Amino acid sequence: MTAYRFCPKCGGGLLAQLMEGQERLLCEGCGFVLYVNPRPTACAVIVERDEVMLVRRAVAPAAAAGTCQVGFWSGASIRQRD
Ligand SMILES: [Zn+2]
Repeated sequence: MTAYRFCPKCGGGLLAQLMEGQERLLCEGCGFVLYVNPRPTACAVIVERDEVMLVRRAVAPAAAAGTCQVGFWSGASIRQRD
């Protein structure tokens, strides 16, 4: 894990938590999750006529919020498919 100890948003303490199958740093004060070196790898925007299709996030941060379908690589999240 990283050497980060404090939240960049509110200055609260960061705690290591198991999230999405990986250890991540979570702020005790505001719930901010520190993703180390996230890099967007894909984004899909589906438009039909005057409507845009959104997906609902299943996990924190912003669980249940609507968003475009996106993904990122966080260093340890590579999965192989057969
Ligand atoms: Zn915070």
